[in-house]
Amino acid sequence: MKLLSILTVCMLTISIQAQNTYLHCGNIIDTQSGKVLSEKTIVISGNKINAIENGYVQPTNSSDKVIDLKDKTVLPGLIDMHVHLEGETGPKKYLSRYVDNEADIAFASTVYAKNTLMAGFTTVRDLGGSGVNVSLRNAINAGKVEGPRILTAGKSIATTGGHADPTNGNRRVDLGDPGPKEGVINSPEEARKAVRQRYKEGSDVIKITATGGVLSVAKSGQNPQFFLEEIKAITKTAKDYGMMVAAHAHGDEGMQRAVLGGVKTIEHGTFMSEKTMELMKEHDTYYVPTISAGKFVADKAKEEGYYPDIVVPKALEVGSQIQNTFAKAYKKGVKIAFGTDAGVFPHGENAKEFGYMVEVGMPAMEAIRSATVTNAMLLSMNTEIGQLAPGFYADIIAVDENPVESVKTLENVTFVMKNGVVYKQI
Ligand SMILES: [Zn+2]
Repeated sequence: MKLLSILTVCMLTISIQAQNTYLHCGNIIDTQSGKVLSEKTIVISGNKINAIENGYVQPTNSSDKVIDLKDKTVLPGLIDMHVHLEGETGPKKYLSRYVDNEADIAFASTVYAKNTLMAGFTTVRDLGGSGVNVSLRNAINAGKVEGPRILTAGKSIATTGGHADPTNGNRRVDLGDPGPKEGVINSPEEARKAVRQRYKEGSDVIKITATGGVLSVAKSGQNPQFFLEEIKAITKTAKDYGMMVAAHAHGDEGMQRAVLGGVKTIEHGTFMSEKTMELMKEHDTYYVPTISAGKFVADKAKEEGYYPDIVVPKALEVGSQIQNTFAKAYKKGVKIAFGTDAGVFPHGENAKEFGYMVEVGMPAMEAIRSATVTNAMLLSMNTEIGQLAPGFYADIIAVDENPVESVKTLENVTFVMKNGVVYKQI
C-alpha cells in the first residue's frame, strides 16, 4: 500500500513535469521570414517552445492542455528597447523625487511592469532610473513580481548639470556634487569608474545622455554634453563587461559624437542630420525612435501646468519632430530598433508606436520584425526570444486581427504567455 502511494506520487510528479501546452493558432507570424502562416499548433514544454506543427494537433497525453487561439493571430512576445519602469508621467511628477522613498518607487514599478507585460511586451530594456529597476528585474526573475524580462541600465550616466544628473534643477543648497558612483562623470577616468560601478550594481547595459533632454529642468534639450573621449572611455569599458551602450540624443553634434564613440543605439535622434544617418549606417548603429514619447510630450506641453515652464518649449519643439526624423531615417536605410520611452507616457500603451511607424511609411511587418527579431539580436538573445521556433522561450502573444493588415490590433493584446506561463487570456 505504502509502495503504491509512493509510486502514485512519483507518476503524478512525472506527469506534471511532462505536461505540454498545445496552442491552436489561426495565424502565426513567422518573424524570421516575415510571413503570416495559418493553422499551426505550437507545442510548449516547460518554459520553451518544443515544436511547431502544421494543422491543429491534438495531444496524446491526457494531462496536456489545449488553448484555442484559432480565431487569433499569434506572434512572439514584443520587445521594447526603451522604457523607464521606475516612473510614469503625471502633472505632479516633478514633486515625486522630493517626496517618494525608494519603497514608493519600488511598489509603483511593480504596477508599471505588470501593465507592460499585459500589453504583450514580454521583454524590455530599462534605460535608466535610480537603481530600483535592478531589484525589479531580480524580483521578476525570481517569480515574486509579474512583469517582462528586463535588461536594465540601472542609473543613466550623465555629465555635471546634464540630462540625468540626479540633482539637476534643484535649489543651489541641494545641488551637491554627484560623481561617478551616482552616474555623473567629467573625464574619461570618471567615465570608466561610472561604467564599472553600474556593473557592480548589476546593470545589464549602459545608458548615457549624450545631449540635453526635454524633461530635465535645464535650458537646452539638444546641446552636446559629453566629449568624444569620454564616450569612447565608456564604450571601451562597457565592452570589457559585455555591455552595450545606448545614447539618448536629440541634438546632431552630440549624436555624431555618440556614433563615433561607438554606442550601439541612438535613442530619440530628433535632429539627426543626413550626415549622421550615413555615419550610423557606416558604424552599424541602430535608431530607437520613441515617436510615442515625442507625440505625448508635445501634446501635454499645451496643457497649462503639466510640465515646468522651462520644459514646455523643448517639449513642443522636440516632440513634434521625432516622427519626421524617423520617416527620413527609415527611408535612408538606417536600421530601426523598436522602442518607445514608456514612462514618459503611461506604461502599457507601448504598442501605439507601431501605428506611428506605419503612418509614415514603414510596412507593418517590418515594424513587427523590428520589435522582435531585430531587438532580440541587439540584446544578444536572438536564439532565445523574438521568434516562434523550437528551443525559444515560450513568450507568446495573440491579437484578434491580423496586425499586418490592421496594425492597431497590437494595442489590444488578448493573450499573453511568458516563459510558458499564461498571464492573460481573453
Ligand atoms: Zn528615456
